[in-house]
Formats: sequence, C-alpha cells, structure tokens
Amino acid sequence: MSTPAPSLMDKIVSLCKRRGFVFPSSEIYGGIGNTYDYGPLGVELKRRVKDAWWTRMVTLRDDIVGLDSAIIQNPKTWETSGHVSNFTDPMVDCKKCKGRFRADKLDDARCPEKPSKKPGECGGELTEAREFNLMFKTNVGPVEGSGSVAYLRPETAQGIFLNFKNVLESSRVKPPFGIAQIGKSFRNEITPGNFVFRTREFEQAEMEFFIPPEQNDQWYAYWVNERFSWYVDYGIDPSKLRKYEHPQAKLAHYCKACTDVEYEYPFGWGELEGIACRTDFDLKSHSAASGKDLAYFDPESKARYTPWVVEPAAGVDRTALTFLIDAYEEQVLPDGDVRTVLHFHPEIAPITVAVLPLVKKEGMPEKASEVDRMLRQARFTTFYDESAAIGRRYRRQDEVGTPYCVTIDGETLKSDIVTVRHRDSMAQESVKVADLEAYLRAAMRSWKRPTK
Ligand code: ATP
Repeated sequence: MSTPAPSLMDKIVSLCKRRGFVFPSSEIYGGIGNTYDYGPLGVELKRRVKDAWWTRMVTLRDDIVGLDSAIIQNPKTWETSGHVSNFTDPMVDCKKCKGRFRADKLDDARCPEKPSKKPGECGGELTEAREFNLMFKTNVGPVEGSGSVAYLRPETAQGIFLNFKNVLESSRVKPPFGIAQIGKSFRNEITPGNFVFRTREFEQAEMEFFIPPEQNDQWYAYWVNERFSWYVDYGIDPSKLRKYEHPQAKLAHYCKACTDVEYEYPFGWGELEGIACRTDFDLKSHSAASGKDLAYFDPESKARYTPWVVEPAAGVDRTALTFLIDAYEEQVLPDGDVRTVLHFHPEIAPITVAVLPLVKKEGMPEKASEVDRMLRQARFTTFYDESAAIGRRYRRQDEVGTPYCVTIDGETLKSDIVTVRHRDSMAQESVKVADLEAYLRAAMRSWKRPTK
C-alpha cells in the first residue's frame, strides 16, 4: 500500500520545524497539547507581522496611540465585561473514549482513540452540549482562596477600556481616536488545533477606535475595508480572502455588528480577524461597576457622551501562519527541477538579504563579511552563508523566503560589483556595492506578488 502524499499543512509544519520557524513546545518532555515555540526564523516572522501592523495602525497615523496593559487584571474586569458568565464554548464528551470536543467545531476535531475518525465515530455516544468557560484561572499571591482568584486575560481589549480615561487625560487625543495594543492572550480552548491556528496561548493585535455614536456606520465600514486591504497590501492572495458578516442572531452580547476577514486555509475557510462594533457596552459597563465616569466631554460642542467603539482584532500567530501558507510554492523550473519557495512580501520575510561568497577562498569570504556588516549597519536582517555550492545556497534561502541574495565573486574583488539574485524571478543583476543599500530599498518598495 502506498503512503498518502503529505498535505500542504504537513509540508508547512515540517518546513517550520526543519528550518527553525516553529517547534512543538517542551518537546523533550513529550510536549503539552498543541503549544508551540517560535524558533529563530519564526520569531523574526512574527516580529515583522507585528511591525507591519503597528506601522500601519499607529506609526503612520495621527489618530491612534499605543498601550501595553497587564495580563493579570483585577478580576472585576472580567465580571463586568461578561467573560466570567458568558465567555464559554459548548462542549461535548465522548462516553467511550472520554474525548472532549467543541460542539460547534466537531468537523475540525479528531477522535483521540482513532485519529483518522471524527468525534463519536469510535462508536461512543456524545453527551449533550454544556457550556465551558475558556478563561484560565490562577491565584495571585501566596494564599490560595476565593479572594485571590484572578484570570489570565482572554483578550487584550479590556486593558484598553480600563485605560481609556488615563490615555484621554495624558495624550491630547479626542474622539475619533484609537488605542492599539499587541500582546498575549490565553484561552483554555477545548479543541486547539490546525498548528498555530488555534492554541491556548497566542498573541493578539487589537485596536479600540473610540467615536461619536453617530459616526459608527462610517467608521465600521472604514475599518472593515482598511483591515482587508492590509492583508492584500502585504501580499496575501485576494482570491483567498473574503469578508464574512455575522448574522444578527449570532452576535456576541456586546456586539451590534461584526465582520470577519476570512482566509481559505487548506483545512477550509477560517477567521483571520474580526472587526466588531462594540457600541458603548464596555465603557458603560466599567463606568457602572467601578463608579468612575468613563464618558467624554467635548469642550467644543459642550456635549457629554460615552463613545462607541469599533474594534479590529487580529491574531498574530494566525496571521503568521497565513503568510506562510499563502507564500508557499513548489515551483517546477524549466529544467524539470522543483524548488520550494516562500514568496513573502520583503517586509514580512524573516531574512531580507543573504550574503554569499561564491567560493570559500581568494578573499571572497572577507569581502562578503564586509558587505554583510555594511547591510546590518543599514538595519537589514541578513544571513551570511559560505557553505555548499551557490545553487544549493540559493535554494535554502528560497525555502525560507529570503527575497534577495547578494553574491560576492571575482568581479566584486576587482571592481566592487556584486550580483543580486531575486527570489521570485530568479533574475540576477549587477550592482555596485556603494549603490546596494538604495538598490535593495527600491526593490523592496516596488515588490509585486508573483502569480503562482
Ligand atoms: P474563533 O471563532 O476562531 O474561536 P474568535 O471569534 O473567538 O475566534 P476573537 O475573539 O474575535 O476570536 O479574537 C480575535 C482574533 O484573535 C481572531 O480573529 C484570531 O485571529 C485570534 N485568535 C482567537 N482565538 C485564538 C486562538 N485560540 N489561537 C490563535 N489565535 C486566536
């Protein structure tokens, strides 16, 4: 019997481990259910995702400021936000194999006894669904008891609401304005899975945009389009993206409208980001529960009101995974050879430039090290590699998505000219070392997603 060909997800998972993007966490102890660590290239990829988000959401705008709030907050935060009573998923148990599954995601789950089968297909009966709270509980301080219970935040948003007044009073902002935050969130997911798509510990990039209530519809439409465009601008295939508007009946308790940006993953369409209209629910609830007034007084119109909020909430890990999947290609070359290549946007690629001496002699490594140092000083992320034949070194860089390889050869030693090899087209160009930085910056700016 022949073994089935590995699926695209299998290939991505294996590439991630082999090349140092993502490792199973605490692997030497057998791991811990769907938890992952990011290796040297993964951490760069995630950093690029966060930088690209922060640049577009904060740096390039004059109406959004940043925040970094605590993971463990006063537990009243979560009572007031509704998470203690409502942040639940329906769970079912298999009476035979004792597996536990999310009732609304049975299609994504596998039977722990027979992994090729779906829940219940091991012959066991599934129980009625019951609600399971996804927040991780912990105890603060040395005494365990009901008075010391706290939660790991399941979203970063609440830290923003709690600091609304602090930011307003310290930062000369006024509605419409936003507060952005990137940080870890924790959810005790019943069925984590699909690699880093759904894990129990993950990073979110969230922004709460505070607006006069009458501007809700206009800003909601604006943020849905702006966030959709961000993915396209960073090279994601638009034909694999769609907007999904939640039906009114399925909206969360705080929500008036919600649109997800979805991507067509190898395992089906899945949410990449949600853009929600959270009304004034959070500010009003925290005002009432804390006794602190979180309304805004507009000194010009003399109006006093509680701002409404439009929230784009993205997952950093899911976005990194999406970039990996979308960039992946096994390209058949004219000579029949197949190369694995990741067509990352140059600003998303973990390594921007590989510096390669053609041979390991004749002064080429020394010259290459000099060019490498020069590029690092110019803040490019580079990788120096002098081992193996040049063709093999190009392929290694293709596989991790490095957009440019700079080769140092005899010509460089003679006339200070290097060869720049482009990942997507494999075209090579001669560039003077003195012009290299400007050349690479221009190439990065004019990059276009290749058609696969
Ligand atoms: P889902 O329906 O997939 O459980 P959600 O609607 O609960 O997601 P939100 O609360 O809107 O998710 O969170 C915003 C974003 O955070 C999601 O779009 C996703 O990118 C990310 N995210 C949420 N849960 C997880 C998780 N368990 N693992 C990784 N990323 C997550």
